[in-house]
Amino acid sequence: MTETIQTTTTESRPEATTYNLFIAGEWVPSESGRTFESRNPADTRDLIGHFQSGTPADVARAIRAADVAGGLWRRTPAPKRGEILYRFGQLMAEHKERLARAMTREMGKVLEEARGDVQEGVDIAFLMAGEGRRMFGDTVPSELPDKWAMSIRQPLGVAGIITPWNFPIAIPCWKMMPALVAGNTVVFKPASDTPHCATLLVELMAEAGFPAGTVNLVTGPGAEVGDALVDDPDVPVISFTGHSSTGKRIAERASRRLKRVSLELGGKNGIVVLADADLDLATDGIVWSAFGTTGQRCTACSRVIVEESVLDDLLGRLERRATRLRLGDGLQATTDVGPLINAEAVDKVESYIEVGRREGALVTGGRRATGDGLANGHFFEPSIFTHVKPMDRIAQEEIFGPVLSVIPVADYPSAVTALNQTRYGLSSSIFTRDVNAAFRAMRDFETGIVYVNAGTIGAETHLPFGGTKETGNGHREAGHAALDTFTEWKSIYVDFSGRLQRAQIDNQG
Ligand code: NAP
Repeated sequence: MTETIQTTTTESRPEATTYNLFIAGEWVPSESGRTFESRNPADTRDLIGHFQSGTPADVARAIRAADVAGGLWRRTPAPKRGEILYRFGQLMAEHKERLARAMTREMGKVLEEARGDVQEGVDIAFLMAGEGRRMFGDTVPSELPDKWAMSIRQPLGVAGIITPWNFPIAIPCWKMMPALVAGNTVVFKPASDTPHCATLLVELMAEAGFPAGTVNLVTGPGAEVGDALVDDPDVPVISFTGHSSTGKRIAERASRRLKRVSLELGGKNGIVVLADADLDLATDGIVWSAFGTTGQRCTACSRVIVEESVLDDLLGRLERRATRLRLGDGLQATTDVGPLINAEAVDKVESYIEVGRREGALVTGGRRATGDGLANGHFFEPSIFTHVKPMDRIAQEEIFGPVLSVIPVADYPSAVTALNQTRYGLSSSIFTRDVNAAFRAMRDFETGIVYVNAGTIGAETHLPFGGTKETGNGHREAGHAALDTFTEWKSIYVDFSGRLQRAQIDNQG
């Protein structure tokens, strides 16, 4: 295992480790001389470590290293690049429990979900390792005799990878695996709430054998480190996941240099429950989608759109289930719902509860949770509002917490209208036993992902992942589609006729 620990602070907290940046295959401090802390959101007395507060100068060093390494990496046969990805996937699988525990400690999701997060990383590593032996282009007949025509994918160069904290292993892997197998090198800027997960991930990448400089890690503030990556002319592609507002800002800056930018942004995902639905199954799907990861998933369900005739029945079931959910440290086997990521997130959720009280009727929850074992963490009760209208703020704005709005509607057409009346378009679902209604929903729901008789979460890595409208800018992660962000098409014509042949001219008439 590569050793990342470089220094231990000696002043106030001798137990806390100081972690470094990873540039050109070395663990190095930032030139800033400054660090920031990462703490456990379930118990903020638990200090995880000190991390380097990177600067634009650190980013420039990392980009230079990635640029130099790219010369050899892009010429390494893709199947050989894939073998290193495969080794990395194996290492992640071997270290799954350790990574999952570190994740729960750093960002709070319950251990079972953290294991799933690591598994997504393993899955994409194996999928993209296989792409090293596929990476299909087209070979097509030429319109002229004795002429060969084909297209191949080419890497872009240095990829800037900027990620959020809510999937601190899966999302970096979803970006870095396709980038690397395609022959790009990367500079990775993780969220400041999860620098430890990022460090553990990059340690394993180094151990897997990615050559020095192909993978570089720069921790530090979004505005400084992120802007430096976005502005640098030697970074032709930025892959970003985070808030829509941050994504728009990045897209604006990057457009000045005509960079390619892939954006995976916010969501306001809805579940439609028709009167003929299996309400037990719908309740399972809603509770899992709304309160899993404490509602902090881009695909979390925050709106339930239900036919009026089954409103009371469904609401009763949801209330009973929500009030039974046990809050606590995600490392405890008894915990159903972990903490929110930080104090600002608690404030934000609380402010939306006030909005909700004005707009709808609170069914359950609505308070910070400070009971036994919760006082030092960022806990909030799972909360449900009913009689919410489709255009209310709590039905429109991304709260990113355990708050669910229930919207009664008269029938399927009004359900579709309500579902689509949002500026986001990531995930959606319908619960029904009517096959015709299910197929209509697949056609009518304006989201990048549609589930039938399942919640809004649970994407698998071999299908495209991403959303419509302000959830993104048309790119997709995962599946073969992920390669599109990180490659450029090159069309190649080989004329073996021995004479000048003019397309569209010599073969006419
Ligand atoms: P965020 O605040 O936008 O931060 C995301 C990343 O951007 C972090 O690494 C952040 O760094 C960095 N950043 C902040 N300001 C920046 C700037 N000016 N330039 C460049 N980078 C900058 O989002 P978050 O709170 O981490 O994540 C939650 C959001 O992500 C939600 O909206 C959620 O829906 C969305 N999300 C979307 C998907 C999807 O696939 N569609 C998946 C997961 C999450 P710092 O941490 O240092 O500020």
